[in-house]
Amino acid sequence: MARYTGSVCRLCRREGCKLFLKGERCYSAKCAVNKRPTPPGQHGQARQRKMSEYGLQLREKQKIRRSYGVLETQFRRNFDKASRLKGVTGENMLSLLERRLDNVVYRLGLASSRPQARQFVRHGHVTVDGKKVNIPSYLVTVGEVIAVREKSRDVERFKIVREGITQVLPKWLSFDAENLTGSVLALPQREDAEASFAEHLVVEYYSK
Ligand code: SF4
Repeated sequence: MARYTGSVCRLCRREGCKLFLKGERCYSAKCAVNKRPTPPGQHGQARQRKMSEYGLQLREKQKIRRSYGVLETQFRRNFDKASRLKGVTGENMLSLLERRLDNVVYRLGLASSRPQARQFVRHGHVTVDGKKVNIPSYLVTVGEVIAVREKSRDVERFKIVREGITQVLPKWLSFDAENLTGSVLALPQREDAEASFAEHLVVEYYSK
């Protein structure tokens, strides 16, 4: 399955904000956005021109897409699916992205970043309703139980989680740290996604 393999810190610098793709490092002084808050590349430090309307829409689309670690084709497919659902397309899009299994593993605190969560899923450490699921884009539904596989409980990160980490849990999920098990209580709403996302710009971008 295709995925981005370059430097993730470059993506944050390109978007001009933290996308939190490297776990603890993102909260430290080593974060590249703190150290070099300019776009990457030879001309990154050149004076920034005022961005066009299209540029703003493109950057917002890239910011959301890169935050969730989704490639363009899949992101577009996700958008098309959201536009066929009842309700506000931008909010549906974010809800679908939140329901991805790799995002749920991250939101539960089982991984320190979405890329790490994706890796845990790909490596078969995660089960849904007792069955191993190694597809990061798998969409969870209400009532499903997400857990760490019995055989994987000795992975260092999971040991840390069992010992207790402070994690702000979204209200649509519940989590039992002792048993490394989470449940989907409801479908995620707009307020459960990142507040800074301007999803209406993505809708405008794809409406052209
Ligand atoms: Fe982005 Fe984290 Fe790298 Fe900072 S450390 S630039 S937030 S991935």
